[in-house]
Amino acid sequence: MAPMGNQTLRAELGRAGWTTLHVMAARFPEEPSQDEQDAFVAYIHLFGMLYPCGDCAREFRKLVQAHPPSVGSRDQAMQWFCEIHNHVNVRLNKPIFPCEKVRDRWQCGCVDEV
Ligand code: FAD
Repeated sequence: MAPMGNQTLRAELGRAGWTTLHVMAARFPEEPSQDEQDAFVAYIHLFGMLYPCGDCAREFRKLVQAHPPSVGSRDQAMQWFCEIHNHVNVRLNKPIFPCEKVRDRWQCGCVDEV
């Protein structure tokens, strides 16, 4: 996929993408079944293939390969996404987010039935 030259769209897409990923983790079961864990890992890999900013997606795939997804619980998933996002923050010279605050930041207020 081609690099995304429109910087405004790249940033908007990035914020929307991170929101989706962090809120998905915040909504992930506290004790996920094996099927739920497999589905989340598959989603992460598909996200890395289809994310429409080509160079971002390529870097994301490298990160996922170097740091395999850890989705054995909601907490693990939230921490994993926080750390992955921080790797991207470092590369883009953005501030590191304190991962102990990730639950508060992405608290969705959702009820737990779907
Ligand atoms: P964002 O980084 O979008 O963050 C949104 C909000 O998330 C922040 O305001 C903060 O409250 C919270 N946050 C920040 N860090 C964390 C964290 N570690 N954990 C939890 N919450 C956090 N852009 C590029 O130019 N090059 C790339 O290679 C690139 N790769 C990307 C890969 C992915 C998978 C995604 C989703 C986006 C990527 N982007 C990339 C976009 C980039 O990461 C930003 O989304 C974009 O620059 C807008 O940045 P922002 O400062 O508004 O905040």
